[in-house]
Amino acid sequence: MSIAAQANTLEGHNNPVIVIGGGAAGILAAISAGRSGSDVILCERMNRLGRKVLASGNGRCNLLNDRLDSSFYNPSSKHLVETAFSRFGKREILDFFLELGLHVYSDGGRIFPVTNQSSSVLKVLEMELKRLSVCVEYNFNVTGITYANGSFIVSSDSGKSLAGRSVVIACGGKSYPALGSDGSAYKIAKNLGHTIVEPVPAAVPLLAKNETCHVLQGQKICAHVKGLVDGKTVSEASGDLLFTKYGLSGTAILDISRELSVAINRHNTTDLAVRVDMAPFINRDELETEISERVKKGVAAEDLLIGILPNKFGMALKKDLISKDPASIAESLKERRFKVTGTRGWNEADFTAGGIDVKGICEKSLESKARSGLFFSGEILDVDGKRGGYNLAWAWSSGFIAGQEAAAYA
Ligand SMILES: Cc1cc2nc3c(=O)[nH]c(=O)nc-3n(C[C@H](O)[C@H](O)[C@H](O)COP(=O)(O)OP(=O)(O)OC[C@H]3O[C@@H](n4cnc5c(N)ncnc54)[C@H](O)[C@@H]3O)c2cc1C
Repeated sequence: MSIAAQANTLEGHNNPVIVIGGGAAGILAAISAGRSGSDVILCERMNRLGRKVLASGNGRCNLLNDRLDSSFYNPSSKHLVETAFSRFGKREILDFFLELGLHVYSDGGRIFPVTNQSSSVLKVLEMELKRLSVCVEYNFNVTGITYANGSFIVSSDSGKSLAGRSVVIACGGKSYPALGSDGSAYKIAKNLGHTIVEPVPAAVPLLAKNETCHVLQGQKICAHVKGLVDGKTVSEASGDLLFTKYGLSGTAILDISRELSVAINRHNTTDLAVRVDMAPFINRDELETEISERVKKGVAAEDLLIGILPNKFGMALKKDLISKDPASIAESLKERRFKVTGTRGWNEADFTAGGIDVKGICEKSLESKARSGLFFSGEILDVDGKRGGYNLAWAWSSGFIAGQEAAAYA
């Protein structure tokens, strides 16, 4: 008996396409391979598919963005992303979901299902998998892939193994391991000849040793923030800033966290900070003048910021306000510096920066340059986009293409 025949413990399969990982990318790969007429087996280590899709967008699933192009992704992935979107980009993703019956709307460019339920997105995908008779193997934790006699052998920790003519690896990155992806597939890819760009948590809250964070924990303001590495601005964003007992969070912080996380985790940099403009709606001179007028009117130090920042800030920042020096107060609000000591890590990171080096992947087909018949898609690759639907967009696009190519591989 051939190795392939021994390995395939599932009956009724004949040289299938095997997709590993039942997240956004893997599901799309299984659907596109299935639509090409192939026999498809989708292996998922968890007892259900798409757990991250369900968690995405705070349960609303921001599945795409109106402005979709490679400029929203890490520079090293530019060509790969451009090539993928020219084949399966915004128009194709929208048509794909509409054809499945999912209606969407745009909220300032961010695209959501009209139901505002990520479960609607997952449901239409699962219905399509069923319609195409894709075989889903749950609780199938892949531990290794080998190639022998024209077949890939995909083995799991349960001892069960499968044989197939081509394989799509769509195992995700390292973020939110409770939802299934813990980075263990990097090792599998490495054994197959791939290089890994060190993965670091991205879109992640930051740790800051600062009394203000502690005192203001739970308070949220709209701010403009800059990430500084060795005194140089490496990222900036406007949006919510949430003070927490460990440091800083909120959408603006998530947006600038990637570059800081890379500096900490890849380059061991220690001179890191966030500079916060707590009153971005007013320029510094105007703010100074306004505070000066309040001081002249005899307003108490702790009330000097009423109407500019939430009431609690007056008491929390009293040390800065006590001098009643308008210039230094304006500076402390417009350029407040928080020393960053780390990130909250993988359990709180929305996605991964780093992963399988895209230099080892064919741009057109997403096929491995090291092993033909092997394809990659989604967050496992060193491709990361901005928040706002870009990471799911990449997962849908790369998943669809990898599935089609894997099906065409004979
Ligand atoms: C809380 C949260 C909210 C987010 N919100 C958004 C959003 O609104 N919009 C957006 O664009 N992006 C969002 N993201 C990011 C986005 O969800 C991911 O980038 C995207 O889902 C990645 O898809 P993927 O299929 O590549 O990986 P995953 O979704 O991680 O799927 C990988 C799958 O592979 C399985 N797996 C892993 N290893 C193995 C193995 N060895 N054997 C078998 N199976 C395996 C995992 O269990 C998992 O099901 C969010 C992320 C998080 C954590």
